Amino acid sequence: MQNFDDIVSIVKHRFKNQNSIYLHEPCFIGNEKKYLNSCIDSSYVSSIGEFVSSLEKEISSYTGSNYGIAMVNGTSALSIALKAVGVKETDEVITQALTFVATANAIVYNGANPIFVDVDIDTMGLSPTALENFLIDNAIVRENHCYNKISGNKISACLPMHTFGFPARIEEIVSICKKWFIPIVEDAAEALGSYKNNKHMGAFGDVGVFSFNGNKIITSGGGGAIITNDKTKATWIKHVTTTAKKSHPFNYYHDELGYNYRMPNLNAALLSAQLEKLDEFLINKRETALYYKNAFNAIGIKLKWETAGSRANFWLNCLEMENKKYRDQFLNFSNAKGIMTRPIWNLMFDLPMYKDCIMDSQKNARFLADRIVNIPSGINPDFLNL
Ligand SMILES: *Cc1c(COP(=O)(O)O)cnc(C)c1O
Repeated sequence: MQNFDDIVSIVKHRFKNQNSIYLHEPCFIGNEKKYLNSCIDSSYVSSIGEFVSSLEKEISSYTGSNYGIAMVNGTSALSIALKAVGVKETDEVITQALTFVATANAIVYNGANPIFVDVDIDTMGLSPTALENFLIDNAIVRENHCYNKISGNKISACLPMHTFGFPARIEEIVSICKKWFIPIVEDAAEALGSYKNNKHMGAFGDVGVFSFNGNKIITSGGGGAIITNDKTKATWIKHVTTTAKKSHPFNYYHDELGYNYRMPNLNAALLSAQLEKLDEFLINKRETALYYKNAFNAIGIKLKWETAGSRANFWLNCLEMENKKYRDQFLNFSNAKGIMTRPIWNLMFDLPMYKDCIMDSQKNARFLADRIVNIPSGINPDFLNL
């Protein structure tokens, strides 16, 4: 029927010395233990410490942004990033339905409502064409703000996501949003090490967000980061995520509603060691992706690839199956053979809390949701210089 056996052998061959073949495992081959020990010895394991400060500088320089702020996780980072661009209760925020649930949740944490606009088939990220069509049909600009002319609510942000580390058509999205006075928060949670025309993902929008959860390309155990070039926003984000406490030798004075969203120093210590290995991991993952590309091409199976001008981090490789039925058969087959494979997420409007959201046709999102399967894509120790 299908070449399920061939697909499984291709994956097994690439990861032949691994006992279990996961989607993506953390890889600790550097200074992790050394930095964790020195963090413990210093007694600064919590929300202040040298690792947090140096990490923030490294994140901003790695991504080419002026400011980096370390956060407790990517979800809180998204929620605060939306606040930083002015998202308020009853507003609407444009995003994609083909995403991890945190993207949509972060909108609702601010009392706002998601609008789902379709994705492109090739990038699997927010489609600029669909975005522009949606705005022409539904939006109006008044006094430099964008409003939904049907609901009357303000459209106060656009939140594109770079799916599995493949860059979305972000430059087009930026120019459309500029025309419509809509600030952009980039959900680059999966896109550390991904670039469009040599500019790092997350650095195109007003604010960008990363995640360092255990399944991401590098991890702090749990953690996230916000990047921005805007000094006022960076200062406010740091202030409000550290309980909005005014600096004072002993007085506890908080000048607005704050949050405890800072990344602990212990997590920053782990991430600092991980960050030193990121470039090596990126090379390793690209090699696996190239191997997959050649092997799957030879048997006529479609592997998702980076689009022109993009450099993907190849966080998770994706096969595009012929239809949903084959997709399900393949998921059963491969998992039974000890190869971890997963379908792409359920579309947000198929989850109970998002079923009544405003959305366009979702033709491409539905197509991809039925067909995309993630295959093992972790850092392969066989090809590291240990
Ligand atoms: C992982 C992820 C997040 C959330 O990050 P956490 O650190 O797990 O809170 C948000 N958006 C996307 C697209 C993600 O993949």
